[in-house]
Amino acid sequence: MLAFTILNCWLQRRLRITNPLMTTHPSLSAPMMNINLITPVEKMARNHPCWCGIGLKYKKCHLNRENQKPINHFEVEAKMLATMRKGYCSHPDQINDPCGSSIIKAHTVQKKGGMAAIAETGHVLTMKPRMKDITKTDGNPEPYRIGVNDASVFPGFCGDHDTRLFKPIEGKFLTFEKDTAFLFGYRAVAYEHFQRLAQIKSIEAQRLMDRGHPFSKQVVVQKIMSAFAVGAERGATEVKAWKAQFDARLLSGHRDDFRFVAVRFDEVLPFVAASAFHAEFAVDGKPLQRLGRQGNDDLEFATINVTTFGGQTIVVIGWIGSDTGPARDFADSFLAVRDHLKADSLFRILVIHTENLFLRESWWNGLDPALKAEFKTLVWAGTSKLERSRDQYKINTRLFSAAPIETVVAY
Ligand SMILES: [Zn+2]
Ligand SMILES: [Zn+2]
Repeated sequence: MLAFTILNCWLQRRLRITNPLMTTHPSLSAPMMNINLITPVEKMARNHPCWCGIGLKYKKCHLNRENQKPINHFEVEAKMLATMRKGYCSHPDQINDPCGSSIIKAHTVQKKGGMAAIAETGHVLTMKPRMKDITKTDGNPEPYRIGVNDASVFPGFCGDHDTRLFKPIEGKFLTFEKDTAFLFGYRAVAYEHFQRLAQIKSIEAQRLMDRGHPFSKQVVVQKIMSAFAVGAERGATEVKAWKAQFDARLLSGHRDDFRFVAVRFDEVLPFVAASAFHAEFAVDGKPLQRLGRQGNDDLEFATINVTTFGGQTIVVIGWIGSDTGPARDFADSFLAVRDHLKADSLFRILVIHTENLFLRESWWNGLDPALKAEFKTLVWAGTSKLERSRDQYKINTRLFSAAPIETVVAY
């Protein structure tokens, strides 16, 4: 049961309940989101819609569930992974620009660029937890090895579109311009879009975890799952809107309301990442916006990509929309971090906000055990296991000596 709960709070990043904090964004003072919980009924008429709310008749769902063969964590994980394996091409215009080849494992961090720069013998470490490790370690899994062919990939593009779309950011060198920054953002949003849809599909598999358990336990499982479903649906709606915004600008070439900041460091940092997230706090701790509140469809997200060009790590933070909102505040707060701490700040931002983060193995292995423990805890930020808080960005120990050599701001 522990692993089940932990897995769900891991997946549940956008269903949080926190104290109201008064500042400018309306979400900071809005009431919390209502969740209509299910009403469990121990015995129902066979043809009645089942109490768990998935839409099947009782006889096809929870009738006799306590006597069904129990499903184990590994089967559930296998089913979840299977739902994520089937892909689609994210390119938005299949009529004028149809796919020219089959779906591939598309990298969100360039394999020959950023990934190669941190790989050792063809491997990197990933912080994305596997269910068996969560179970084994009581929710504190170690980062584990993954081959560079599988690191950061998702079946979200055909080979043809992947190659053509991202050619401008696949070379050996990179100039920070709106067009290149936009492509990084597009890739991150396409990835998040895929992940959120896969998450919804995975709920179905997880709902079977109450097989062979008594009614009381079925109730616990189904209540967690239905609350999770609310959050997942909301997340999917949001990410569809983000993707639609990026799609429209990809096709039109319009970049006026696409904004970004970018920093180039003077050396290769031992990590890469690609993600899109809601910044709830600025790096200095100022509250920016809160998730899980009622009626807030104007939450701002930002994309973040960290990779390497010409032996130098770059970071691009981008967003579409306002020049005065939470995304801008977040980007500015990162730029305001003093140069000698910027790389450390960047690493914390990634640990807090994305599981699509990859590390150089020897670097991780050489870290102080206390620091490892701290980062392993921080990866749960934004779940019901560890709420996000204003002090999580604070740097306690300096790890990197890299310094920024170029900063670009395009608002
Ligand atoms: Zn049911
Ligand atoms: Zn395609």
